[in-house]
Amino acid sequence: MSEIEQHLHGKVAVVTGASRGIGRAIALRLAARGAAVACVATTAERAGDTAQACAQVGGRAIAYGVDVARTDAVAELVNQVQAELGGLDLLVNNAGITRDQLLLRMSEADFDAVVNTNLKGSWNFIRAASRSLMKSRGRIVNIASVVGLTGNAGQANYAASKAGLIGLTRSVAKELASRQVCCNAVAPGYIDTDMTAAIDPKAREALLGAIPLGRTGVADDVALAVDFLAGPGGAYITGQVLVVDGGLSL
Ligand code: NAP
Repeated sequence: MSEIEQHLHGKVAVVTGASRGIGRAIALRLAARGAAVACVATTAERAGDTAQACAQVGGRAIAYGVDVARTDAVAELVNQVQAELGGLDLLVNNAGITRDQLLLRMSEADFDAVVNTNLKGSWNFIRAASRSLMKSRGRIVNIASVVGLTGNAGQANYAASKAGLIGLTRSVAKELASRQVCCNAVAPGYIDTDMTAAIDPKAREALLGAIPLGRTGVADDVALAVDFLAGPGGAYITGQVLVVDGGLSL
């Protein structure tokens, strides 16, 4: 990855949920493009390994810890990142959780946890970062899900949070367009990470059969889409949802 064009050289990126899975792959891709990367997870310790790996492929990287659902703590963290890395050009809202359950059995706590992390967490970061992004004419990429477009039995909380995130993306795109800030969403299908590891083998087989490209996705499939939207190819794209699902939602 060290030989790819460094079109993010001199830029500062924040990636939430960077400790593992899709977020780690995104952080590594952006670092390889030359960005300084703030790697955010629930604790700085959990994001430490990704930050170290980013520093090896790219430039500066610092690990940060915050619960994305905590509005004041996120605002403080965004200020800290700018002070330590020297600005803010790209925000990737990737942190997310599932608490799957059929509607009648879903607890209020499980609904709130998913919406507060996936949707409010992204809003927290966008709000805290938007002034700086307006100055830098930056980019925002929100990691949604195809489930936010199609719905899914057993995921009313998760699908609502991701559909909300798509609405947030389009609204922010309209609001910040005059300041040359582009805001898009990437909607992955089934990607092999810790999040999908718990799915039972039978359900996985059935899902696999429904994916026209005949394979599940890997984290880097999503990271490459983010890389595109963050780079020169994304300059005239805003308010869009880029589906990365091997055709699953067709
Ligand atoms: P993952 O492997 O479970 O990783 C989740 C990441 O989010 C971790 O870095 C975790 O940090 C962080 N996180 C969770 N809650 C947080 C909180 N309250 N505050 C800060 N960080 C928090 O998930 P993934 O599969 O890579 O998914 C990444 C994103 O893609 C999610 O938004 C997910 O909804 C979306 N997505 C995934 C798939 C898929 O098939 N995997 C499909 C569609 C969309 P810790 O390590 O500190 O817990």
